[in-house]
Amino acid sequence: MSAQQTIHVAGEWLGAASGATREIIDPADAKPFAIIAEGGTDDADAAIAAARRAFDEGPWPGTPVAERAALLRRVADLLVRDREKIGLLESRDAGKTVEEGRVDVDCVADAFRYFADLVIGEGAGRVVDAGSDDIHSVVVHEPIGVCTMITPWNYPLLQASWKIAPALAAGNTFVIKPSEITPLTTVALIELLVEAGLPKGVANIVTGPGHTVGARLADHPDVDLVSFTGGLVSGTKVAQAAAVGVKKVALELGGKNPNVVFADACATDEGFDTAVDQALNAAFIHSGQVCSAGGRLIIEESVRERFVAELTRRAEKIRLGRGTEDGVECGPLVSKEQREKTEGYVASALEEGAVLRCGGKRPEPTDARPATGYFYEPTVLDQCHREMKVVREEVFGPVLTVETFRTEEEALALANDTEYGLAGAVWTTDSGRARRMARRMRHGTIWINDFHPYLPQAEWGGFGKSGVGRELGPAGLAEYREAKHIYQNLAPQPVRWFAG
Ligand code: NAD
Repeated sequence: MSAQQTIHVAGEWLGAASGATREIIDPADAKPFAIIAEGGTDDADAAIAAARRAFDEGPWPGTPVAERAALLRRVADLLVRDREKIGLLESRDAGKTVEEGRVDVDCVADAFRYFADLVIGEGAGRVVDAGSDDIHSVVVHEPIGVCTMITPWNYPLLQASWKIAPALAAGNTFVIKPSEITPLTTVALIELLVEAGLPKGVANIVTGPGHTVGARLADHPDVDLVSFTGGLVSGTKVAQAAAVGVKKVALELGGKNPNVVFADACATDEGFDTAVDQALNAAFIHSGQVCSAGGRLIIEESVRERFVAELTRRAEKIRLGRGTEDGVECGPLVSKEQREKTEGYVASALEEGAVLRCGGKRPEPTDARPATGYFYEPTVLDQCHREMKVVREEVFGPVLTVETFRTEEEALALANDTEYGLAGAVWTTDSGRARRMARRMRHGTIWINDFHPYLPQAEWGGFGKSGVGRELGPAGLAEYREAKHIYQNLAPQPVRWFAG
C-alpha cells in the first residue's frame, strides 16, 4: 500500500512537507486500508497562503454568481456519478453502513444544489429607502475572504459540504482540515471540485492532526473566518485562538438531545410502534455517533415499562457488523478510543444506579464482525436521572438513557436541563402541547412526532454550548459573507456643519 498525496495546495496534490504519513484504519477490523499524508503547520501555512492569493488576485470572488452556481451544480452531478464509490469509502472510513454512506452522498449533492439555487435566486443587493430621491442606498453581500474549516469524523463528507458549498457560493477561498481518522471522502470531494473546474488555490486541503494543522487554521493571521464542527473542548480552543485575530467564528458542537414521549403518542398500537421505532433510530443510527442523537429518552411514567420493554427487545435484535456486509444495520464505533469512552460512560452509569436493560458489552465476534473491530452492543440504561454523568455528557456511542416525568412542566424542565441545545423531539397527539413544547424547548431543531430529518433550506445549529452560528438555510450562506452598505449621493451639497 503506497501513501496517497492527500494535501492539495494551489492546484497541486502533495505529500506532507515533513514526509510524514498516517495509516487510516477500518474500524470494522482495526486494519489499515489507506495511507495518507500527515500534514503539519508548514503545510497549513502553504495552504493558507495559496487561498489568500487566490482570494486577493481572483478570479473566483469576482466570478459571476451564475458561473459559481453552475460549478456547484456540476459538483452535485459528479457526486451522483461517484455515489457508489464515495458511499463505500465513507462506510470504510467512518464505519457506517454502505447505505448510510450513499445517503450521505445524496445529502451532500443536495447541499451543493441548494446553495447554487440560493445564490442564483438573490438580487444584486437590498435597496434601502434613505428618505430622498437624491440618495441611492444599497446593502450588498461580499465574500468574507479566506475561510478555514475543521471537521469531525462522524459525518466527514456531509459536514464538509455544509461549509464548502456556501463558502464557494459566496465567492470565498478555503482550506479544509478533515478529521485525521476519516479524511478520505473529503479528499475525494476536493478532487471533484478540481474536476468541476474550480480555479487553482480556491479549494485547499491539509490532512493532519488537530493540535497542529487545526490549531494553525484557527490562529493564522491571514484567515478571515474559521468554521469548526466537532466537540466542545476543541471548539473552545478554536474560538480562543480565533479571538486573538478577531476572526469570524462559526461553531457546530455537541449535543445531548432529549426525545420526549408523552403517553398519548402511545395510545394506539400504531402510535406506540412508531414512537418505539423512532426512539430506536434516534439513539442507535450510526451507533449513536450523531451530534443530534436522541440518547436521552424522557418518557411519561405511565407508559415507561411497556415502552422500554419493547425498545429493549428491538435494540437486542439490531444486526451489528461491518458496514459493507449485506443485512448489517449498525457498524462499529469509529475507533478504539471511542469504544473505550462509551464503555466508561456505561460503567459510570451503573455505578450511579442505572439499570442495564440490554447491551453494555462488546458483542460476540462473527464473520460479519471480526473480534478486532470496535463493535459495541446497543445499550439501554433504565432508571436514569439528571445528575448522572451519562445523562449530562455527550456519549457519542450506542447508549440510550431513560428518564421519566409525570407532567408537561416536568418533561420540559428535563428537556431543557442540559448545557447543550442542538436538537430535541416531542411525541404527542395533542397539537397544542406539541406547539407549546416546541416553542419552549431550548434547542436549535425541534422535531414533532419525528426524529433526525433535516432540510438544507432550514438552518441547523445549536443553542447554548452546542455552538455559535448556523449552517444550512439562508443563515448558512450569510456566515460566509460580509454585508456592505453603499450609500451614493446623487446630488452632493456642502453640509455646513462647521461655520468656517
Ligand atoms: P473533535 O473536537 O475531537 O475533532 C473535531 C476536529 O477538530 C478534528 O478535525 C480534529 O482534528 C480537530 N481538532 C482537535 N483539536 C483541535 C485544536 N486544538 N485546534 C483545532 N482543531 C482541532 O471532535 P470529533 O471527535 O471529531 O467529533 C465528534 C464531535 O463533533 C461531537 O461532539 C459531535 O457532537 C460533534 N459534531 C457536531 C455536529 C453539529 O452539527 N453540531 C455535527 C457532527 C459532529
